[in-house]
Amino acid sequence: MKETGNISIHTENIFPIIKKFLYSDHEIFLRELVSNAVDATQKIKRLNSIGEFSGELGELKVKVSFDKEAKTITISDKGIGMTAEEIKKYINQIAFSGATEFVEKYKDKGDEQAIIGHFGLGFYSAFMVAKEVEIISKSHQEGSEAARWICDGSTQFEISSAEKADRGTDIILHIAEDSEEFLEEFRLKSILEKYGKFLPVEIEFGDKIINNPSPLWTRNPADLTDEDYLKFYDELYPFQEKPLFWIHLNVDYPFNLTGILYFPKIKNEFQVQKEKIQLYSRQVFITDEVKDVVPEFLMLLHGVIDSPDIPLNVSRSFLQSDSNVKKITGHITKKVADKLHDLYKADRAGYEEKFDNIGLFVKYGLISDEKFYERAKDICLVQDTDGKYFTLQEYEESIQAAQTDKDNKKIFLYATDIQQQDAFIQSAKTKGYSILKMDSMIDSHFINQLEYKNQDIQWKRVDSDALDKLIDTGNKLEILLSKKQQEVVKSTFESVLADPSKVVAIEGMSAEELPAIVTQNEFMRRMNEMQKNGGN
Ligand code: ADP
Ligand code: MG
Repeated sequence: MKETGNISIHTENIFPIIKKFLYSDHEIFLRELVSNAVDATQKIKRLNSIGEFSGELGELKVKVSFDKEAKTITISDKGIGMTAEEIKKYINQIAFSGATEFVEKYKDKGDEQAIIGHFGLGFYSAFMVAKEVEIISKSHQEGSEAARWICDGSTQFEISSAEKADRGTDIILHIAEDSEEFLEEFRLKSILEKYGKFLPVEIEFGDKIINNPSPLWTRNPADLTDEDYLKFYDELYPFQEKPLFWIHLNVDYPFNLTGILYFPKIKNEFQVQKEKIQLYSRQVFITDEVKDVVPEFLMLLHGVIDSPDIPLNVSRSFLQSDSNVKKITGHITKKVADKLHDLYKADRAGYEEKFDNIGLFVKYGLISDEKFYERAKDICLVQDTDGKYFTLQEYEESIQAAQTDKDNKKIFLYATDIQQQDAFIQSAKTKGYSILKMDSMIDSHFINQLEYKNQDIQWKRVDSDALDKLIDTGNKLEILLSKKQQEVVKSTFESVLADPSKVVAIEGMSAEELPAIVTQNEFMRRMNEMQKNGGN
């Protein structure tokens, strides 16, 4: 048999167009072809399990090899295979119609590569790197004759009968001159490891299996131990510090989502590592740029999300408005908040211990995500300068009586630097006041958020004014210095300070306290800080 034919397509040559549009991401050809080989393998397994295929399954590995001399890369599977008719149907018609649509949609759009992102073109992405693509396939159907298809990326193809002993498909890419970089062992191996590390069928490259076909997130949580989760973390991020805890996601309705999210230890802002979440679709790696799929604060987590319902072949802006993506985001946010509640309820002391390492994450979440604020505000802890932890609610109740001013406002005193503000802290303590430790970079934003959310509470930095002005209860203490003494003290301090934002106040205090304090008006202080931070 030999037949030549024309593919009906409105463009003379799809090759340069595909190449142009997928320019930034040439390496995905291997992801597409290997996932097709995996799909074909899964199909034969399924046919076998439902009794529709009774032949020998044999060894079902997918093999990737290359020949530097011949300038070819070959992807072979022992999957269902295709008859000549099926090649014409699935490769010529279906795939070409996909390609046609693609070309129609984007031919006038100039060089907007960003539109595509990860526009997977399936089989035809092979033409990004190959000047000629050959398919040699033998169907699983009994008595099938093997077929060979060859195409140079133009609208012409050729199909003929071929010799092939085993069931399955070989895709042979004749690599183009400008893509010879892919004819390197190291390059191919790293692409395979990147996209195929967790593919569900064994992938062999250079006599070695490069993947783990049943990664932890695909397994039943009930069968897994803490050890398993820690080991898998190590597999994902070798040589990293152990995570604190994790969530195993497993949803099948109303959308499909599996995955494992780990909470890393984050002690301070400098340890934040974003882009540690990997996005998979049916165990095929898609990207680790998940900012359109998970809310920003969740990007502090590490791990894997796998969902066939996230549309991967479309533009970024589409992703953001996609309703499945929104639902998935909402679900993850809820799961994370639930996990924190569980830990809090199960073991308060343990939760307090962990809070050192997750506080930044929780606060960042409360600030940046309204839904998370609602879900997690009750389990966000604050710590006083003696190291005792409170929920915001508990803290409010504990200071209620002592720290309410004459206008009935509750005052939360806080320190941003325990050492520098020690004199003020001590002085406030002798009055029976409590002071919160708010010394991380995120705390000033966190305080703004809490002030905005609960306007019955005023936050005042402990050194921002004289204590009886910070908490004006209406009763003044007597000043023990004479008028004359007061003036001398005041002018002495002011001449040394030479800073108009600092105010020297002589306050009424008990004898064991300080006779004078230097404070900086809270408004002036915040203004100064804003200027220092470049207006933010
Ligand atoms: P998709 O995988 O999204 O269906 P592709 O362009 O990657 O689109 O492939 C088109 C079709 O060609 C597949 O749906 C499948 O029917 C067929 N096909 C591709 N590769 C193989 C293969 N290795 N074995 C069997 N069939 C294949
Ligand atoms: Mg495909």
